[in-house]
Amino acid sequence: MKKRVDCFIFADALGWELVSRHGILEDLLPVRNRCETLLGYSSTCDPTILTGELPCQHGHFSFFVKAGNESPFKSLGKWSFLPQRIAGHHRVRNRVSRHLAKKLQYTGYFQLYSVPFKHLPLLDYTEKKDIYEPGGIIGGQDTIFEHWRASGKPWMRSDWRRGDAENLAQAKDALSRGDVELLYLFTAGLDATMHRYGPHAPEAEAGFERFAQSVRELHAIASKQYHDVRIHLFSDHGMAEVSQASDMMLRWQTLPFQYGRDYIAVWDSTMARFWFHSEKVREDAMRWLGEQPDGRILSDEELERGGCFFPDHRYGELFYLLPSGSLFVPSFMNMGFVKGMHGYAPAEADSAASWLATHETRGVKELKDIFPVMKDAAAN
Ligand SMILES: [Zn+2]
Repeated sequence: MKKRVDCFIFADALGWELVSRHGILEDLLPVRNRCETLLGYSSTCDPTILTGELPCQHGHFSFFVKAGNESPFKSLGKWSFLPQRIAGHHRVRNRVSRHLAKKLQYTGYFQLYSVPFKHLPLLDYTEKKDIYEPGGIIGGQDTIFEHWRASGKPWMRSDWRRGDAENLAQAKDALSRGDVELLYLFTAGLDATMHRYGPHAPEAEAGFERFAQSVRELHAIASKQYHDVRIHLFSDHGMAEVSQASDMMLRWQTLPFQYGRDYIAVWDSTMARFWFHSEKVREDAMRWLGEQPDGRILSDEELERGGCFFPDHRYGELFYLLPSGSLFVPSFMNMGFVKGMHGYAPAEADSAASWLATHETRGVKELKDIFPVMKDAAAN
């Protein structure tokens, strides 16, 4: 019988509010606390989990940015004539995204979402490489998997391209053979369910039940092969129920500013990021944004506190953020209403991530604390 296995289970969007409200896996995972998240999305948080560094260090924050000299999407401008209801349709987008990722040799998660074709030639995409593979982090940091590889211990990681059922089956299989001592299980099914139905819908609750059951099964299977089974379950952020739609992007578009000439903007689902081409536009825009009741302009100090201040402004010169439970409809990310969303201020209750474990480890108070625990596991 093998000695010990450390399973690190990533559950996208399974936030602390949800975990405490439903008492998820309270008996199996008695070590549990709120884990502070970061401003941004999984694209911001996941590289921090994998490297232990803040966004300003690993370089990842959001997917779309203002292009430098040449945009990889230059050729897409010719499709600008398509009405957005066709061009923004998810089936069209998925197909074009797959084709483009292949052509541009992107190995990371790539999705055009609903970014208008006419704006794409002025934009660039940040996650070009698979962040789970060596060389995938923009800042050049090693991820935990390079450390695991170097430790010489047998390890495995699931493929984020696959669904939860397949990844769970693969993890159970490896544990039932006693093949691994370090395991990173990737799951994103709860995130998808909660976006679709909302975090408090019966579908989400059924999802939590199923998920908890899977973790129990995993533990039971591992316990037959190892006498020390350590499970660490964590998320990147939480999920808020969306109760309000903001049509601010449409209102902004009626202003006399012209995209490309006066400014560039990216409308994420809960945050708008701007680059201005003149001081006059910046002043007028800031005045207008300051008058809108929808959300607020983030100060550089706030970005800095969250580890998301980039001195070169590569992710924007000005950030405008909605309050928890509000969503830009439409945005560059979605054309319609979505019932669950994340990407609000980290201090909001529904934003917090969670940390649950079978055993005490060094403390995990924020996302970057997960990495040292994963590193310790390889050393022990
Ligand atoms: Zn999500």
